[in-house]
Amino acid sequence: MELRPIRGTHDILGQDIIKYNFIKKVVSDYANLRSFSEIQTPIFEFSNLFLKPLGEQSDVVLKEMYTFEDRNKDLLTLRPEYTTPMIRSAITNNLFEDLPIKIFGIGPMFRRERPQKGRYRQFNQINFEVFGSNDYLADLELITLANDILKLLLPNSKFNLNLNTLGQRKNLIEYKTKLSKYFDNNKNRLSNESREKIKSNPLRILDSKNDDDVELSKRAPSINEFIDNEDKIHFEELKKGLNLNGISFEENHQLVRGLDYYCKTVFEFKTDNLGSQDTLIGGGRYDGLIAKLGGPNIPGIGWAAGIERILLLMQDIETKNDKIHLAISNENLKNHLIKLINFLTKNNLPFYWNYKYNLKKSLAKANSKKATNIIIIGEDEYKNNFYTVKKLATGQQIKVNLDSIKDTLND
Ligand code: AMP
Repeated sequence: MELRPIRGTHDILGQDIIKYNFIKKVVSDYANLRSFSEIQTPIFEFSNLFLKPLGEQSDVVLKEMYTFEDRNKDLLTLRPEYTTPMIRSAITNNLFEDLPIKIFGIGPMFRRERPQKGRYRQFNQINFEVFGSNDYLADLELITLANDILKLLLPNSKFNLNLNTLGQRKNLIEYKTKLSKYFDNNKNRLSNESREKIKSNPLRILDSKNDDDVELSKRAPSINEFIDNEDKIHFEELKKGLNLNGISFEENHQLVRGLDYYCKTVFEFKTDNLGSQDTLIGGGRYDGLIAKLGGPNIPGIGWAAGIERILLLMQDIETKNDKIHLAISNENLKNHLIKLINFLTKNNLPFYWNYKYNLKKSLAKANSKKATNIIIIGEDEYKNNFYTVKKLATGQQIKVNLDSIKDTLND
């Protein structure tokens, strides 16, 4: 049998796991600063949680969900995104008494997409959500947070913020009807793929990458004509806030986002350095979604960042190799070694031990790993109850007992 990982999945190890853990720490610390609490939801949920809310005609639901029947015939899905599980969690844990709710989560998502650089079938997302505020300051806080986190993780990369407003759901429905008509009248100039979306999902044609579609989309009716005054003011206030925070952005009226639940503010952070999978973070408002899932009728806004895409842009993190290496001359000295190992563990002193009883080889290994200290155990050390600490920088060897070994190691 040939062993291989499932297509579109990957192991995270070496530098990547160091970076991954660094990302988690930076995100958690930053979240704490702004009082966002972490929620971890299960990686599978009842399929109904996703089917309607994400849009039965959305790419995710039509083609990308990993759905299977459980033995008791329940239909389950590996979570393809985090917003709906977060809302489910807030509802089933009764979190809505104290509004607004500010939460975040980090973990794996699953989508059966065509794998390529920056696009996988299992990937990890960072997710931030605010439930229960209409204030444009919630939009501003979330976008600022996304911008700050990207800057902390990728201090040397450039990214662009694209911003749009889709108006309220009722306006969006009117707009979709007008858009469908426009594309229908011009359908012989559309790509085959977009033609199929004329009725079901005309918004998605606006962000097609096909040249003919792009040309046609340029002259399509604009969402702008459909936005209510109140929503225009919300959007203007948000833009002023972004200017105040020194965050530059580009208004992009073609930006619609893939999932059905979005309305009002939508945004994406993109980079020029990742080829076609260039979106690092995507998000927006989803007023109405919480009520649709059985929660109170309160608004929501959030975003998701792709950790793998951030990893691709991150520089290596230098790691210190200050582990103590142990070198033992033969197996009869095991008891003396066990005492040492217990002491090092209790005193929080990181060490490396490979169950090999060969002084020469252990010393060579410590050299090649650039250890700072080696603790040597030979017959003499055992008989007279001491240990020899060798400092690799100077070659100096010091005989010590356990009581004073800590000071010698730290010298
Ligand atoms: P979305 O949930 O589609 O709005 O995606 C939010 C972010 O998750 C994107 O901007 C990407 O950074 C990341 N992402 C989405 N799909 C994938 C995927 N298949 N592989 C890797 N990252 C992804």
